[in-house]
Amino acid sequence: DSFFEQVPLAPPDVIFHLTATYKADTFPQKVNLGVGAYRTDKGKPWTLPVVKKADEILHNDPNLDHEYLPIKGIPTFTAASAKLMLGADSVAIKERRVAGAQSISGTGAIHLGALFLSKYYPKGAVAFVSNPTWANHKAIFNNVGIEVADYPYWNPATRGLDIDGFLGALNAAPNGSIIVLHACAHNPTGVDPSHEQWTAIADVMQAKKHFPFFDCAYQGFASGDLAADSWSVRHFVDRGFEIFVGQSYAKNFGLYGMLLTAIPSMFEIWDAIFEDHKRERCGCLTAVTRDTVTAKRVDSQFEKLQRSEISNPPAYGARLVNIVLNDPVLFAEWESDLRTMSGRIIDMRDKLYKKLIELDTPGQWNHIVDQIGMFSFTGLKGR
Ligand code: PLP
Repeated sequence: DSFFEQVPLAPPDVIFHLTATYKADTFPQKVNLGVGAYRTDKGKPWTLPVVKKADEILHNDPNLDHEYLPIKGIPTFTAASAKLMLGADSVAIKERRVAGAQSISGTGAIHLGALFLSKYYPKGAVAFVSNPTWANHKAIFNNVGIEVADYPYWNPATRGLDIDGFLGALNAAPNGSIIVLHACAHNPTGVDPSHEQWTAIADVMQAKKHFPFFDCAYQGFASGDLAADSWSVRHFVDRGFEIFVGQSYAKNFGLYGMLLTAIPSMFEIWDAIFEDHKRERCGCLTAVTRDTVTAKRVDSQFEKLQRSEISNPPAYGARLVNIVLNDPVLFAEWESDLRTMSGRIIDMRDKLYKKLIELDTPGQWNHIVDQIGMFSFTGLKGR
């Protein structure tokens, strides 16, 4: 008898399963709208020119070795990540009340934060996620034993934000709930709160002593402006909140590093061996706390948790990002690459909208251009 007998068969991941079915489809004009990865107008993945440059620099570094990184990752990488998210002039950074750990992309950052909360946040607290949200949110919190509920977000009638439902749920939630917030470019609706709405959200969360856990997977990728895309996070920090924010460099650096996780085609294996083999997933979990002593304690626990989870984070992707974030010239180039990607997405939305109007398509289509980022809820129904 094997104890494996009782292990149930898990259904395949919906999105990645779709990718596999897409690959198997022989229709020549097929388009994959499933997975959230940037494509050029030829439908191909795009290696950012600035990432190629950073790769060159790394390649030519005579001191490069393959030793372990520190447990919490490259210190200049986590520091630059906090600066990128909170702003170069952030008071929280000046007051040294920020803790951080390098993570395995955004997923790893959210996981580490959730794990921390499962140990140190008051027991029984529920994590609220938007309805709908990125499907992994629920799984990540559930995996560490935190119960998940949702707050209304999408209003099908306006194809926009259900702000009343959202605020109502925040009010009705038990005090001190964990609230997972998409910093920008909400997945999957493409609908973000306005500044005024964020302010109202922060008002209720302050009154209810909720804990904001930001998921920021699209900084600079939404509007093309790094500060504009992190406005929500900075607003909460300015108002004195203690927060967690998980950052992903998958989209804004094109470092998805996932080519071989989906069922690979020959082309992808080739690509992975000869070009993309060095891509690695990197992200960062940052905590803003009330003071330096607290930040130190939190930081020490990040290190302890990370040690038992992965020991040391992978180096390659973080080294590339570290080079770019800490070099003013490359940083400016990166900003230009971000404008290329976000600009193309905005342009595609604009073209689709104009075409729908030009063709006198029945219905209202302004949501296509009001939404931001690479996801769109079209309001179309399946047949
Ligand atoms: N959070 C959201 C909302 C996302 O859309 C994604 C990626 O699609 C992530 C987090 C994390 O992705 P990754 O782990 O690839 O950085």
